[in-house]
Amino acid sequence: MIVGIDLGTTNSLIAVWKDGRAQLVPNALGQVLTPSCVSFDDDGSVLVGVAARDRLLSQPTRSAAAFKRYMGTDKRLRLAGREYRPEELSALVLKALKADAEAFLGEAVSEAVITVPAYFNDTQRKATRVAGELAGLKVERLLNEPTAAALAYGLHQADPESQFLVFDLGGGTFDVSILELFSGVMEVRATAGDNYLGGEDFVSLLVDGFIAEAGAAIGLQARKLGEAQAARLRAEAERVKRVLSTADSAEFSHTEDGQTARWTVTAAEFERRAAPLLERLRTPVERALRDARLRPADLARIVLVGGATRMPIVHRLVSRLFGRFPNRDINPDEAIAVGAAVQAGLKARDAALDDVVMTDVCPYTLGIETSETSAGGAVRSGIYLPIIERNTVIPASRSKEVSPLTDHQSEVELRIFQGESRDVKDNVPLGTLTVPLPRRPKAEQTIDVRFTYDVNGLLEVEALVLADQSRQRLLIEQTPGAMSADAIRASLDALARLKIHPRDQAENRALSARLARLYEQQLGDVRDWVGRQIGAFDDVLARQDPREIAHAREQLSRQLDDLEGAPLT
Ligand code: AMP
Repeated sequence: MIVGIDLGTTNSLIAVWKDGRAQLVPNALGQVLTPSCVSFDDDGSVLVGVAARDRLLSQPTRSAAAFKRYMGTDKRLRLAGREYRPEELSALVLKALKADAEAFLGEAVSEAVITVPAYFNDTQRKATRVAGELAGLKVERLLNEPTAAALAYGLHQADPESQFLVFDLGGGTFDVSILELFSGVMEVRATAGDNYLGGEDFVSLLVDGFIAEAGAAIGLQARKLGEAQAARLRAEAERVKRVLSTADSAEFSHTEDGQTARWTVTAAEFERRAAPLLERLRTPVERALRDARLRPADLARIVLVGGATRMPIVHRLVSRLFGRFPNRDINPDEAIAVGAAVQAGLKARDAALDDVVMTDVCPYTLGIETSETSAGGAVRSGIYLPIIERNTVIPASRSKEVSPLTDHQSEVELRIFQGESRDVKDNVPLGTLTVPLPRRPKAEQTIDVRFTYDVNGLLEVEALVLADQSRQRLLIEQTPGAMSADAIRASLDALARLKIHPRDQAENRALSARLARLYEQQLGDVRDWVGRQIGAFDDVLARQDPREIAHAREQLSRQLDDLEGAPLT
């Protein structure tokens, strides 16, 4: 049996082609979305999915998320005292999905179609293959995510020579792709996007709106939120955002030291506040159309993908941009996995669709470290300044101007990074260029930093000091991130030694992690109550009576659902 897998940055899904249709496979918790998160325990056992996501806050040094962003780089993530490659962590997610599919199908699963972003380069694709291998899967083929979305909608059966646009707005990234079906091959003709734009930004703007409109009255200040406080506000904003996807208004409420503040947000108010974000969605669409030399009217279909396209404001924007309604019959967060299963089904009948990428784009953002001076004068270093954004069509050359931090500085060190995080420590260091400066007041000192990146992955960094026109250059060759055969073998051994937690206990682990997260987020009486439940549930687990455990779990889950508000889809 070949399965189809959407290995996403935030969530992953697995689907199978069965009884003539694509079917999504639920995980041990009965959900089709498995958060792409991994967490390690003292005893060497691994948690994957919701349980791991719940531990990101309570066990940050043992848990990881969003490692897809590092695929194909030499980045190592240190977790519970060991270093992991991004492909090893992805392998753990794939392994959990494989186990779910085997439980669902009642048979072994050994082959998979795995989706990758269209802008992934060769190294990133190889790393994804390695992740599959490490999880014990033969990767039948990698499929471009927008092509998968098109397959889910049956567009491969459309008129020959038609063009489509896939609009994918996920949790943290935005990707636009233009596809062309030509002689039975699906070509990705253009890709564009914004790496720092997604559903999370709409959550942030609701948090800011709440603080401005109601939170100040109970002493909340945007710049002075504690970690747990910010997490509670974000969870409430996420709920409000989802309610606004189906209702005309929603109430945002938050309690602090026994005082509750409430803010009623209408859909119109949400749209007004979201206007700058909606405007930012427009630019990549226009760029992709320009790159593919197409007008909106040339597109046969527009397909919406990614959970955040459920927001009516996004849907309306797309309708306005193209002058017609987009396709969104398939759940937007499931379309890519469905498409991967369609391809798996075609593959099983030797009729797989060929897909190719025609554009060459820069697969990562490239930039330098800078500092930021706050209004109060405090200096924060380690901030990322992107120079060439991910998805830029290459060859490309871009420059930005920077200034030294202090007066009469004799040199600056430009530290160069690749990656997507605002904190440079989470990005991959590529090199350092030392730039000597004539001694001047900082106001008279400007350095023009130019990055030129070509198709062979060669990055040239050039710094021009405007004061004396002196230039410094550095050439950086991208190190291949693919693992050697020996490294794969060693990694397989190490992963095999990790104890994957038994499936029948996965639900208990998820509940414990949920309780731990709530304990962190809540305060006062609710926190005390959660603390007592943690102790009581531990006692039940210690008695090892499966019926008692199942009963306690059910009752407690219901109480927690009431506390958090029933999950919305
Ligand atoms: P994805 O990366 O495709 O799983 O998308 C995740 C994003 O979709 C998150 O930012 C979610 O908040 C958002 N999302 C999921 N469901 C909804 C909904 N019903 N309304 C608004 N946003 C949603």
